Amino acid sequence: MAYDLQLTHVHKTYDNGTPAVIDFNLDVEKGEFIAFLGPSGCGKSTTLRMISGFESVTSGDLMIRGKRVNDQLPEKRPTSMIFQNYALFPHMNVRQNVHFGLGVKGIPRAEADRKVDGILEKLGLLDIAEMPTARLSGGQRQRIALARSLVVEPDILLLDEPLGALDANLRKSIQNELKLLQRDLGITFVFVTHAQSEALALSDRIVVMNAGRVEQISPPRELYTRPSSQFVARFIGSNTILPGTVKSCDGEVVMLDTAFGPLAGTNRAGIDAHTDRKMSIVLPAEAVDLLPEDMPDAEIRADFGSNTIPCTIERLQIVGHIMNMVVRFDDGQTINVEGHVDKYRNRLKAGGRAYVAWRSRNATVIDQ
Ligand code: ADP
Ligand code: MG
Repeated sequence: MAYDLQLTHVHKTYDNGTPAVIDFNLDVEKGEFIAFLGPSGCGKSTTLRMISGFESVTSGDLMIRGKRVNDQLPEKRPTSMIFQNYALFPHMNVRQNVHFGLGVKGIPRAEADRKVDGILEKLGLLDIAEMPTARLSGGQRQRIALARSLVVEPDILLLDEPLGALDANLRKSIQNELKLLQRDLGITFVFVTHAQSEALALSDRIVVMNAGRVEQISPPRELYTRPSSQFVARFIGSNTILPGTVKSCDGEVVMLDTAFGPLAGTNRAGIDAHTDRKMSIVLPAEAVDLLPEDMPDAEIRADFGSNTIPCTIERLQIVGHIMNMVVRFDDGQTINVEGHVDKYRNRLKAGGRAYVAWRSRNATVIDQ
């Protein structure tokens, strides 16, 4: 099948010798919402700029809709880019700013006017169309930048941390709008962010990057439930990582010998979990049950097998219907656990002893 966007063995080394992107491989289907997620400096913007044509590709193939575009000028590509600072012209009004993108493409005046009006209406900007952009709010400026990128009717919209300049509340509401707009238009979005909440809320798939390399490409939920590397397990969500060596396997369930005794997780990536291999259990905060110390042993075994670690409850805090707890293992390591108030109230108290417990299917084993 033809993909909207394909990167195959794409490398980027800057003139000063910085290897910014290393062997990047990704196939994107039409209408997908893809996020590039990773810490600052990992190569997200560089990759986006290569797709847009503002940065050259050192080696590898960059294909848009089945056509190799490595050497095609930015304005010839069916892509449109929104920058973090929006790059609006402060002395021009909203309409002129949106018009600007079309001017470069040499579209006749009447047709251009029609397109500009159409997109201004779609984004609720008609009322402020004649106002200079310098006087508008962050949210409005964001929307103008979006209008300017969409008015050229790109196949692929590229967004480089477009919500970074907005406050938290506004960011949430614009996130929702972006998602609805993307569904409505049915075009491919490639969205760069270092904020995992943003990537998780918006994307169909997330590309997690680290030091120029792709660590994992998965739908958001799978990054939680199936992290495939230490980096992803530490970067995404709130995981406890328990190192050990393989003791035995039962189907997908792998039992490790750990500092806390025998503990198990699920081998989702089909790793060859031979005896004595060094692996780790990744335990998501959501998978943790806290059991009171006086719970009968037989009951614990029946539900959790040997997946228990004794701990001390350091702190309990009720926020609405949620109880937040900090617990300390006997080796000094602390973890955060949360659960519904009804489940824990009157069963656990600060300073008391308890067990951290989980079902093997809710934890993942990965290589160390
Ligand atoms: P991100 O967007 O993930 O923060 P970038 O793609 O901006 O990361 O940068 C990736 C790496 O490339 C970093 O080490 C950065 O310093 C370097 N870099 C970015 N732009 C240039 C450039 N124009 N010239 C040289 N090095 C650059
Ligand atoms: Mg960047």
